[in-house]
Amino acid sequence: MKKICIVGGGASGLMAALAALKSGGRVTVFEKNSEVGSKILRTGNGKCNFSNLDLNETFYKADDPSFVKKAIDRFSNEDLVMFLTRLGLLIKEKSGWLYPYNEQAKAVRNVLLAEAVSYGADIRTDSYVNMIVKENDKFLVSVSGQKEREAFDKVIIATGGASGLIGKEKFNGFELTDGFNIKREKALPGLVKLKCEGLDFKNLKGSRCDCNITLFVEDEPAREEAGELIFWDEGISGICVFSLSNHCSKALDNNKEIVVKLDFLPDFDEDGLASLIKAMCLVNIDKTVEELFAGMLNDKLVKEICLSCGINLNDKVGSVGTDNILSVSHKFKNVYLVVKGTADFTDAQIMLGGIKTDELTDDFESKNVPGLYIIGEMTDVSGPCGGYNLQWAFTSGSIAGENACCS
Ligand SMILES: Cc1cc2nc3c(=O)[nH]c(=O)nc-3n(C[C@H](O)[C@H](O)[C@H](O)COP(=O)(O)OP(=O)(O)OC[C@H]3O[C@@H](n4cnc5c(N)ncnc54)[C@H](O)[C@@H]3O)c2cc1C
Repeated sequence: MKKICIVGGGASGLMAALAALKSGGRVTVFEKNSEVGSKILRTGNGKCNFSNLDLNETFYKADDPSFVKKAIDRFSNEDLVMFLTRLGLLIKEKSGWLYPYNEQAKAVRNVLLAEAVSYGADIRTDSYVNMIVKENDKFLVSVSGQKEREAFDKVIIATGGASGLIGKEKFNGFELTDGFNIKREKALPGLVKLKCEGLDFKNLKGSRCDCNITLFVEDEPAREEAGELIFWDEGISGICVFSLSNHCSKALDNNKEIVVKLDFLPDFDEDGLASLIKAMCLVNIDKTVEELFAGMLNDKLVKEICLSCGINLNDKVGSVGTDNILSVSHKFKNVYLVVKGTADFTDAQIMLGGIKTDELTDDFESKNVPGLYIIGEMTDVSGPCGGYNLQWAFTSGSIAGENACCS
């Protein structure tokens, strides 16, 4: 019976443990925290959006899309749904995004954990793996505070990434793989808030508005997203922003200039809006600018946009003049912000970069270090919001766990 070590009891590690156990392996999971799957508990705002009905390799950023395709073909969203259902998880779908029916992330973690325990997994919490070496055909695994190294036939590195760590949590995934000379892409924060210039964000903090966002990289339109935007102290956030942030992180790292255009009235075209505003000015000439726009957009946003156009909210529409009012309403559809950076890893949902996929076989085994597997967020494969990152963790975990036993 093969002795398999899994470093990290998160989404990918628990799935790898189950796949290995079901293939007849003897599995030890080392988890540095006091419980396994603590990040799973925080996913999807505590509801755990674990996959998506619409899944294929094009959703992922990876050097070699065929690597992702082959993996998804072997363990797809349908396979995951079937797997979790067999464990007793009822599932619900919202616009294609998949959640546990009770909308409690702990349901996902708990069914995985219960299955691993019932198959006899040796789960060791408060166990921080700080070194792995290979001697002859065995891997020797060192855990902080323990003198003896433990020998295993196979090791699966499932440490996750540097993102979303809490308190004094430390990420050492690359320290573990660097010892084996495995190449990786630079790590950057992904699915993360953007820091911008162009509005006074402190005044807007907490305001939410639906909007269309266009991302420009070096003046070229690169991507569009729509959805609810949330302002924070230093810029913009929200799912639509997260989806753009992966592109921003990479482009900023390459010193590219990034601008986003926000359209807060996407349902109105420029000419139609101008005609409407002119008509409104005519019948509201004695009202203040604030009163004129009160029924249109978030009040804090109106105030900021008026200020940026040099218009006082208390002035009467008649005295400001229709042309100046039109310049404000034009800006409702054309706010340009310069993106100066992203929030750091602590605020990021994922880590971009990681172990290059051409270092790995299709079974997630290191080409240079047979018996060593690297899965989940440690790999240089990243998805957008919508359950794609957890699906990747489960897909890679399932394949590596099974292969580690059978090869
Ligand atoms: C706030 C937040 C919300 C998110 N929401 C979603 C969502 O709704 N849908 C989605 O698809 N994705 C979401 N993600 C991303 C998703 O959580 C990750 O992509 C996924 O958990 C990665 O799985 P993993 O197994 O690679 O890493 P993790 O789930 O992070 O697991 C890694 C585990 O390894 C342990 N570990 C690390 N180093 C060591 C070591 N040296 N020794 C022992 N143990 C170690 C860690 O403590 C951790 O338990 C979210 C992320 C965050 C931060």
